[in-house]
Amino acid sequence: MRHAVTRVRFHFKGDTIYVDHVPTWTCTRCHEPYFDAPVYKRLAAIATHRGKIKKTVSFPLAEYAMALD
Ligand SMILES: [Zn+2]
Repeated sequence: MRHAVTRVRFHFKGDTIYVDHVPTWTCTRCHEPYFDAPVYKRLAAIATHRGKIKKTVSFPLAEYAMALD
């Protein structure tokens, strides 16, 4: 497990948010992020108050079967 401060995708009650600068533990084998309990609690609180999020990011969403030529 490696400690890092990163952007994470957080699923909570059917919603997904992204949060920057989150202290995480990352599995060095599968790169799955893990959160300490207080960090998870804070992410859940942020997700609950997501109406206060001020920034929205957009990113390319590909279709696996998309044409490549
Ligand atoms: Zn793992």
